[in-house]
Amino acid sequence: MQQKTFFTPGPAHLYPSFETHLQQALREQIGSISHRSKQFKAIYQFTYEQLKTLLSIPDNFAVLFTGSATEIWERILQSCVEKESFHLVNGSFSKRFYEFAGELGKKANKLEMPFGKGFDLAQVTIPAGAELVCLTHNETSSGVTMPVADMHTLKQKYTDKLFAVDMVSSAPYPDLNFQLIDCAFFSVQKGFGMPAGLGVWIVNDKCLQKSELLKQKGLTVGTYHSLPSLWSKFKTFETPATPNVVGIYLLGKIAEDMNKKGIAAIRQEAEQKATMLYTYLKQSENVKAFVQNPDHQSPTVVVADVAGGSTDLIQKLTQTGNVVGSGYGSYKEKQIRIANFPAVTIEQTQRLIDELKRLEK
Ligand SMILES: *Cc1c(COP(=O)(O)O)cnc(C)c1O
Repeated sequence: MQQKTFFTPGPAHLYPSFETHLQQALREQIGSISHRSKQFKAIYQFTYEQLKTLLSIPDNFAVLFTGSATEIWERILQSCVEKESFHLVNGSFSKRFYEFAGELGKKANKLEMPFGKGFDLAQVTIPAGAELVCLTHNETSSGVTMPVADMHTLKQKYTDKLFAVDMVSSAPYPDLNFQLIDCAFFSVQKGFGMPAGLGVWIVNDKCLQKSELLKQKGLTVGTYHSLPSLWSKFKTFETPATPNVVGIYLLGKIAEDMNKKGIAAIRQEAEQKATMLYTYLKQSENVKAFVQNPDHQSPTVVVADVAGGSTDLIQKLTQTGNVVGSGYGSYKEKQIRIANFPAVTIEQTQRLIDELKRLEK
């Protein structure tokens, strides 16, 4: 069977070494080991150390595992907000994060931009009462990015607030300064090229202190996956419940491979492939970049309008072995979304562009 290349923004193409590591996991019978064993603790520690190196995570942060990134939205709001949160909303994912705050009984504030638009820092005013600021590095629905430098600048203006960054569809690309960002999170089926089923929460001691304060006040911060519960287990590289042990093992191995390649090379390659894609979109007659402001064009999920609709193009591309994502929600039949994750090479990206050019004729 011909192997396809998945340019879908999650689940996405699997990382090239995934298969080898999975086979090794099966040989070592990782799927059957106890999560209270020494062997599991060593796996957790290894994955933690690899991610720490890859993303330059300081010592005062824990790396915690959940079922998904969606779960982490809820955990952050429960653990770090007594009354008020603030959200930058510009698409379906950032909106869902915002809605969760309301559903949990918090006062949720937002600044919302139209679909396809990013944020101008000069327009962002955060209410004094907001305890937590929620940012989305890459809005997967629209292909809008918030530059990391803008996130850092905003935190420097509002140092008393906790800052949370959703980097689900961009990690490990964004070079976050964890002196300024209090927590960030992702799930593994996007930029890490793994099957779904594992959320990763990188969170500092300030968030933990806030959570403990809320607990002292008699508020509910959750049960087994509350931040204090996850963190207390993390100290001995354990988890409150039986986790996705194989997923944690594979993430450690893939992060190790990424470290061998070097994060600088991974980021540089992402930029090179993004430039190839956006250059193609600039000269194409039928397929055009949806996000207009170059500063807000995502390097990791490229969204394009297709003249006459995207359904036919997606189908024809699939026949060539190149699977791109459809538009999100109401844009399903109008747009395509092309993930630019580390698992896909420069050559595979060039092949997609060649097919797109051929199909235009
Ligand atoms: C995919 C995605 C999520 C949700 O991730 P799950 O693993 O499905 O929980 C959250 N935020 C962004 C930006 C995403 O792209």
